[in-house]
Amino acid sequence: MAFGKNKGIYKTPAELRLMVQPGLVTAASLTAVREAIRPGITTLELDAVADRTIRSLGGISNFQLVPGYRHTVCTSVNDDIVHGIPGGRMLEPGDIVSIDSGAEVDGWNGDSAITIVLDDPSRPEEVAARRLLSEVTEQSMWHGIARLASARHLNEVGEAIEEFVEEHPSTRQGAVYGILTDYVGHGIGRSMHEAPPVFNYRVRQRGPEVKPGLVVAIEPMITAGTTETFTRDDEWTVASADGSMASHWEHSVAVHADGIWVLTSPDGGAAALAPLGVTPVPIP
Ligand code: MG
Ligand code: MG
Repeated sequence: MAFGKNKGIYKTPAELRLMVQPGLVTAASLTAVREAIRPGITTLELDAVADRTIRSLGGISNFQLVPGYRHTVCTSVNDDIVHGIPGGRMLEPGDIVSIDSGAEVDGWNGDSAITIVLDDPSRPEEVAARRLLSEVTEQSMWHGIARLASARHLNEVGEAIEEFVEEHPSTRQGAVYGILTDYVGHGIGRSMHEAPPVFNYRVRQRGPEVKPGLVVAIEPMITAGTTETFTRDDEWTVASADGSMASHWEHSVAVHADGIWVLTSPDGGAAALAPLGVTPVPIP
């Protein structure tokens, strides 16, 4: 059949309800990391904070189910973009840190990432540029999520993300942003990574139909420079080829009969989506 590849990507209403709890546990783990992060803490300590939170809420880390990966989160610092392995690295003032976390509860998954820029009063301009990069990346994600609410086909999401970055005032003033094309978002459900791919940029294909039961992780990865990447010697960490700083934001979002709901945000995305004219609806 022509549509064989995306067959079975749509969840039933009962399955969507099972994805609420893993989303909330994933969100809680990132809230805990946000509260703990400061200069002097190691990325391994942040990993422990996330792990404790997920376990205390009855979940398990789904990253630990990825073959060869033994940690609960990925921590990507400065020019590391994604898949950074927690370790002894001590965070420093001014660092831009992306934390990617995921929880599995009763066999269903959540996946979400945030970026945090630590303060450094000694170099305000660099900190401001890093905060802007994170803000543009986060807002591009919310514009992608907002588009999902009215999209007919999934690949409109990437169009909205790219459009937002292109039209951002700082882009018009000469700021350079590279939207990664080597890595993309994905469907999510019983597995953390499922079909279909979710592009963060325009593509020729329209992608699968957006209809109730679709659950996707939308996760733009953006550098303040090139889209070219390389993998470090640890064979996990993906870094920007030109050393430019990077940001990564991600949410898992469900489409259901009455609207969309951001599973990995405690308010379903209401606060961030309100300025974009979208009101998320809890999964019935
Ligand atoms: Mg993730
Ligand atoms: Mg993901």
